[in-house]
Amino acid sequence: MRRRRRHRCDQATMLQLLPLISLVLLLLPSPPVRGQWLDPESKYSGDQTEYTRPNADLDLRLDEPDIAPNPLGGPEQVFISQADHTGTAFTISWSSNRTMGSRVFYSNQPSSYDLSATGGSSTYSYADYTSGNLHHVTISNLTYSTRYYYRIGEGGSDDRHLVFASEFVTPPPPGPDSSIKFAIVGDLGQTYSSNVTLSHIEQSGAQYLLNVGDFSYADGYQPRWDTWGRFMTRYTSKVPMVFAYGNHEIEFDNAVDAVKPHDGFLSPNTRFSAPWQSCGAVAAIYYSLNVGPVHIISLNSYVGITKYTPQYNWLLSDLEHVDRSVTPWVIIITHVPWYNTYNAHYMEGEVVRSAVEYFARKYRVDAIFSGHVHAYERFKRLYLYEEDECAPVYITIGDGGNREGPAERFQVIPKPETSVYREPSFGYGSLEIINSSLARWQWHRNQDKGDVIADSVLIESLAGMNSCPLPPQPSQPRYDEHELLQSY
Ligand code: FE
Ligand code: MN
Repeated sequence: MRRRRRHRCDQATMLQLLPLISLVLLLLPSPPVRGQWLDPESKYSGDQTEYTRPNADLDLRLDEPDIAPNPLGGPEQVFISQADHTGTAFTISWSSNRTMGSRVFYSNQPSSYDLSATGGSSTYSYADYTSGNLHHVTISNLTYSTRYYYRIGEGGSDDRHLVFASEFVTPPPPGPDSSIKFAIVGDLGQTYSSNVTLSHIEQSGAQYLLNVGDFSYADGYQPRWDTWGRFMTRYTSKVPMVFAYGNHEIEFDNAVDAVKPHDGFLSPNTRFSAPWQSCGAVAAIYYSLNVGPVHIISLNSYVGITKYTPQYNWLLSDLEHVDRSVTPWVIIITHVPWYNTYNAHYMEGEVVRSAVEYFARKYRVDAIFSGHVHAYERFKRLYLYEEDECAPVYITIGDGGNREGPAERFQVIPKPETSVYREPSFGYGSLEIINSSLARWQWHRNQDKGDVIADSVLIESLAGMNSCPLPPQPSQPRYDEHELLQSY
């Protein structure tokens, strides 16, 4: 009895002290960020800089200037994309909430707009949402490495809410002597951190944006696609975007069963444009294009890619027809990484990897860029989990800054030899093709609102590696037919 009372008394004292204890804990200096999610082998792992690692961030407020809708329903959410296989045609895509023609005026001279092209528009519905008018206009017969000025909106109005004017530069001609710089981003979203990443990309001087998937994090809430489109416009109206779809692009309206593989990508398929017609693909779900000296393949992690599927057949045919004397560089962008040592999405890429890795190695793909894991990781050249000088470099660049936050934990500890650098922080990558044999890859980390190059490496093209023997076929269990029959 006595003992029990004393116990109760202790509890009461503790309760009285709780606010004081909390206050002391709050005032104590927080310990340096350590833990298994920091890579002990990285000199940029956070211990040696003033750098504060980011947390999950909030989406931009709806009344932010870049996010607010066009008050007159005029053109907004402007994206440019390459429309043919070689870069002489471009599609300008936008949304309007008023009736307007799908017409673009353009010229290679400022303010003249003496040429024009027309396209079409459509809308889509998802649950109780109906999109704005989603316009696509393709302008063709453009000259390489030339600045074009364009204007959306008809009539003599100068009202900035009814007319949208911008400009972009066409890529260099396909050929081994061209050079070009790409910005590569993944899992961007539309948070304040995404905004920092996009600001850094704007200053990168890149001529194309490669987006490895998970664009808006709309997650079925369609107005978020519109805010993402407005958020991106300041960049994507000037720089062509090449994309690969991520899991956040998959949206099934429950009222409609998916019949075709691309049915699950209703919103992005209606909003964005890609040159799938010119490479024998069936929709923007996977496709390829040439940009200067680079053949870019966009693979889809979420439609069939095992043997005999359309994507598998298409990929093999596409790889077989690459002419390395025109495009010495071959890269793949795809959402789910084939190699990954983080806890997040560990081994999710195994089905795709085991289906087509052999061909990435056989056709000497230079590099494979992925997202999905909200972090950065760069691997050596790998084939079947082992170093192979004729295999692609693997890079995870899913660190754009979306609202889900960074992937904080590693699955493989300590870091295996095959992973050169891994770190969960926000940022983007740049791939600068210097010439037919050399490219510079850099990972740009968002550090204290600045842009810090935290990882940098020169990559040599595999175009000239004619001495590479064919890789061994991935070993599969083989049963002798006779033995198999006997066992039954
Ligand atoms: Fe993601
Ligand atoms: Mn993802």
